[in-house]
Amino acid sequence: MICKNCLTLNTSSNFFLNGTCSACLNFNQRKNIDWDLREKKFNTIFKKNINFDYDCVIPVSGGKDSTYQVIKLLETGCKPLAVCVNTGHMSKIGKINLENLRSLGVELLNIQFSKQLSNELSRIGLIETGDIEWIENMAINCGITNITKKLKINKILWGENSQNEYGGPSNLSESYLLNYKIWLKKFGGQLNLDIKKISQKYKLKLPKLFFNYLPYNEIKKIKSIYLGYFFKWDGFENYNFVKKYGFRSSTQRVRGSILKYENIDNYHDGIHDYFRFLKIGMGRTHDQVSRLIRRKKISKVKGVELIKKYDGEFPDEYLGVKLETILKEINLTKKQFIKLCVKYTNWEIFDKKNTLIRQNIFRPKLKSKFML
Ligand SMILES: [Zn+2]
Repeated sequence: MICKNCLTLNTSSNFFLNGTCSACLNFNQRKNIDWDLREKKFNTIFKKNINFDYDCVIPVSGGKDSTYQVIKLLETGCKPLAVCVNTGHMSKIGKINLENLRSLGVELLNIQFSKQLSNELSRIGLIETGDIEWIENMAINCGITNITKKLKINKILWGENSQNEYGGPSNLSESYLLNYKIWLKKFGGQLNLDIKKISQKYKLKLPKLFFNYLPYNEIKKIKSIYLGYFFKWDGFENYNFVKKYGFRSSTQRVRGSILKYENIDNYHDGIHDYFRFLKIGMGRTHDQVSRLIRRKKISKVKGVELIKKYDGEFPDEYLGVKLETILKEINLTKKQFIKLCVKYTNWEIFDKKNTLIRQNIFRPKLKSKFML
């Protein structure tokens, strides 16, 4: 099924009601929200800080959204600590934007993985789950909560509630607090993969800071708050906002994308998005087009044209880093990479007969009912 409003496919975790996807349903609800009231609530949670202790941790990546989080929090006068769990594949532009956060007046804790560990985790993530960023994401989520606890800080300000922006059950998408029970279930044993089994299989020595989740009775003492609940979350407007504060976009269109300012902090994002395309038939461009149509910024006709042209582009290169360079770093050959592409392609969505598979080339073709 294709959302009659925004062209989203129902192959993602999205649910549909009368032909409309949940991301559109959630989006339409936003006009009934009293945003002034929510902003007031935000200002009662984060108040002007008159001592020098940190009130809150902001997880940052060097992307536009974390820049937005830092600015909104600094506006309240409270004292945040920006924490970057840097898994080692930051792009040049990502590093510049991370550095820019300090110019905004925030202290930054930048924790970097060893090169060996970050490359090994990317390789294992891609092999075991078809997601080069899978274990990195887990390390970020786990690392942020553990550091917050160690520093005796009791709040974390996350960005959007992705359940709301990208569609998900309404009971999860309408809260300003992260639900740890569900979160731990999802990330603690993400995709049914047991990190203990993985570390035994690959003989990994994983640092506890990033791979041991706090138990529920400990983690629940930290309030994890979504900024997106209090301010109308809009990636496009966020970009217009943060560029006035020194945030820089890429100088060229980003591969697989129609925008120059999304997913530009990590050069593994291209492979991550490409595999998502192979799994659900929707890549980064399709996501962006759906969000643009929902906001009436482009027509459906234009959207279809853009999806046909750019969605699911093979990640030959991303943010100036060649695929060969990325694969060499994580110790995979192109042949092995293509094999993984074939393995993780959802053949219920893609048509194997019309897909070109060679040692060096993979050109998947959607089945006609999933084509726009
Ligand atoms: Zn929709």
